[in-house]
Amino acid sequence: MKCEKCGSEIKQLIISVSDAYGSDCSISVDITECEKNAVVFETDKSWTGYDQDGEDANQDIRCPICGKNPFQNDEIQIYNIVRVVKFKKAK
Ligand SMILES: [Zn+2]
Repeated sequence: MKCEKCGSEIKQLIISVSDAYGSDCSISVDITECEKNAVVFETDKSWTGYDQDGEDANQDIRCPICGKNPFQNDEIQIYNIVRVVKFKKAK
């Protein structure tokens, strides 16, 4: 996607996560673009934006180039996903 603040083409976003000791660290996450204007990334409850309301959650999504939230639109949808793991027969 193109960052809507600095115009750079970016393939990742920077978010903050809490580590096992409770301190925050920044990580980059891959993004997937879909539905014409939607950008999706996956994280888990360690994302510091997880329990925040929309404005604070938006502040924890940053462009790797300029450090600002790369979206002008404030809409954000957060889904809990279910990960299914299946196993093939043993060789
Ligand atoms: Zn930017």
